[in-house]
Amino acid sequence: MEETVRAELTEALRPLTKRKELAEDVPMSRYTTLGIGGPAEMLCEITSADQLLEILRIAQRLGVTVNILGGGSNLLVRDGGWPGLTLHFGDGFAEITSPVPLPDGRFAITAQAGTPLTRLSGVAADAALCGLEFAAGIPGTVGGGVLMNAGAYGGELQNIIEGVTCATLAGEIRHYTRAEMDFGYRRCRLSAPDAERELVVSATFALPPGDEDTIRVTMREFNARRREKQPITLPCCGSTFKRPPGQFAGALIDQCGLKGLRVGGASVSTKHAGFLINDEDGTAADYLVLMREVQRVVLQQTGVLLEPEVHIAGVDPPAQDA
Ligand SMILES: Cc1cc2nc3c(=O)[nH]c(=O)nc-3n(C[C@H](O)[C@H](O)[C@H](O)COP(=O)(O)OP(=O)(O)OC[C@H]3O[C@@H](n4cnc5c(N)ncnc54)[C@H](O)[C@@H]3O)c2cc1C
Repeated sequence: MEETVRAELTEALRPLTKRKELAEDVPMSRYTTLGIGGPAEMLCEITSADQLLEILRIAQRLGVTVNILGGGSNLLVRDGGWPGLTLHFGDGFAEITSPVPLPDGRFAITAQAGTPLTRLSGVAADAALCGLEFAAGIPGTVGGGVLMNAGAYGGELQNIIEGVTCATLAGEIRHYTRAEMDFGYRRCRLSAPDAERELVVSATFALPPGDEDTIRVTMREFNARRREKQPITLPCCGSTFKRPPGQFAGALIDQCGLKGLRVGGASVSTKHAGFLINDEDGTAADYLVLMREVQRVVLQQTGVLLEPEVHIAGVDPPAQDA
């Protein structure tokens, strides 16, 4: 953004943020599980819904592009950085309400967008509420999880969501029921290509009561399966590609003999071919070339075009003079 706009934005955001909650040129490699990414031009920690709405109105008045960062577990930011104002939904916006009984015997809990799904599923287990066991090992936030309709082991957030509160870029609140969210496989109304841009502020989940020990055993089993099958200790973004209808991306990549394929610091995991990992300090450029090569070979050998699940954001670095 232009220097004058940046100065005006900083001045307008100062009264809404504490000293460390607003920063310039923050490397996104520190905020993404891939450990890749150039700097966010300006990064602002979200700490309340009112503050968020005010910030959105300011950004709109100044014509500043708004980016959203949750847990950074499904995000590849290009090496040239992320221009504009990046709003981080993290620990400062992660409150969870106490369970409220519903007329049908279930209990409602509402969580702010920055709440880690792992913590939410732990809180549900503490209250002996079922339905979130599958999320115990998903390293994203409620906001990113809703946008992606995150799921695993037969569970998906859409099955337990009652409603979602969103904010428009104009700083207005909107409430959607589960049906209005129009959830599908790794998508919802907010991620539709022609959708008006909206941010998840919070989500309400309706969970049936269950047996706490059984819930915890299920969570432990799911996490053990993850540790056994997935390279979760290495920098990654989970499954890099979506599941093609009736198939598994990892199985297709494996079948094409691509396990271990490397571009610079990025490679196809030898443990699970669906995970493209950043195991040797790679760049976004390495990762994108690896993704394209995997797509090219899989298309050529199987006729299936793999669609990225990872969200790609930001800009390339300026071209170097020869
Ligand atoms: C080891 C590992 C295992 C994983 N396993 C699974 C799995 O089993 N199932 C699964 O579904 N996913 C899995 N993932 C992927 C990832 O955790 C999920 O997609 C998660 O929902 C992303 O949430 P996030 O907060 O990290 O989003 P981010 O990566 O921060 O953002 C992803 C996208 O959501 C947008 N976004 C984030 N927050 C908001 C918000 N509040 N409002 C609007 N838009 C927002 C961002 O702008 C971006 O476009 C895994 C990832 C890793 C690293």
